[in-house]
Amino acid sequence: MRVNGSYLAEFLLEKGYEIYGMHRRVSVDNYFDRVEYLKGKIKLVCGDLTDIGSLDKVIREIKPDDIYNLAAMSQVRVSFDQKFLTKEINWLGVERLIDTIKEYTQNTKFYQASTSEMFGEVLEIPQNEKTPFNPKSPYAKAKLKAHEAVERERENGLFGCCGILFNHESPRRGLEFVTRKFTDGIARIKLGLPQRETGKTYLEMGNLDAKRDWGYAKDYVKAMWLMLQKDKPDDYVIATGINHSVKEFIELAAGYVGIKINWKGEGINEEGYDKNGKLIIKIDPKLFRPTDVNQLLGDSTKARNELGWEPKVSFEELVEMMVKSDIDKLKGK
Ligand code: GDP
Repeated sequence: MRVNGSYLAEFLLEKGYEIYGMHRRVSVDNYFDRVEYLKGKIKLVCGDLTDIGSLDKVIREIKPDDIYNLAAMSQVRVSFDQKFLTKEINWLGVERLIDTIKEYTQNTKFYQASTSEMFGEVLEIPQNEKTPFNPKSPYAKAKLKAHEAVERERENGLFGCCGILFNHESPRRGLEFVTRKFTDGIARIKLGLPQRETGKTYLEMGNLDAKRDWGYAKDYVKAMWLMLQKDKPDDYVIATGINHSVKEFIELAAGYVGIKINWKGEGINEEGYDKNGKLIIKIDPKLFRPTDVNQLLGDSTKARNELGWEPKVSFEELVEMMVKSDIDKLKGK
């Protein structure tokens, strides 16, 4: 567990739950930095969705009342280069977990992190639970297989819910996602620091026209819990109902550090400058995906009506929060 798992753990701790966080063994020092502050409050257990033996052991010993499966190979672009690993974790890992529940703890309630990426090249705008799926990446295809597995097992008695969450961001978001990459990058430009990976004085970005329905991760974990409190398991779309392009995100985030972007050129030659003519953004075609999802827009009416869920933090508040946090982090605050 890392980013959204940490928000979920905080939420469940407040409700008085005893929490076990399953994590993979990895040999990097800072792996637990995002859950460090939870040490002592949750119990960390080692396991891996690709290893049925480890799942058996964890589930048999803990016999959890609820399982929230947020584990995944979560980066869409990487999934094109690692499609077999993506399938192993995002699809077959979920099948393994379900089999383990069936074997040892039939009454365990199961939450599966499905994703708006399953709508892919969208067949309807906005997207709700009845919108047909049309996945375009190995990531989304594997997630859809897992989604279908939960639906299949639900018919066989599993209490399994899928949250079809649209993009959910936070200051803890990984730097490989566009929002955090940009808030960290623009904070660096503001403070006169070089970019993290490239060492350059400007940011390199991919497709600026893609639109996403971005919400705040902390709001979204509440929806996960609400799903498991229902008498009957079901699937729910969780989204804000408003979308913005990557370019709009960039303009707003840059605005929070006092930089107004002037755009010049078009397509892969587009560049963004500040008011003094300093280069801030350049397009790197390598950052485009073989097939991208051009626009996602969620309709969460069902969740609003049946779960009483609604997002609290606006897009503007979210962007400001992320920029501020990155400025503070870079200043060592
Ligand atoms: P996703 O919706 O789960 O794929 O979340 P991401 O944050 O990785 O990407 C959101 C959108 O931003 C996609 O359409 C990307 O093609 C687009 N994008 C544009 N530039 C970048 C970039 O530099 N990094 C990433 N990750 N995405 C980018």
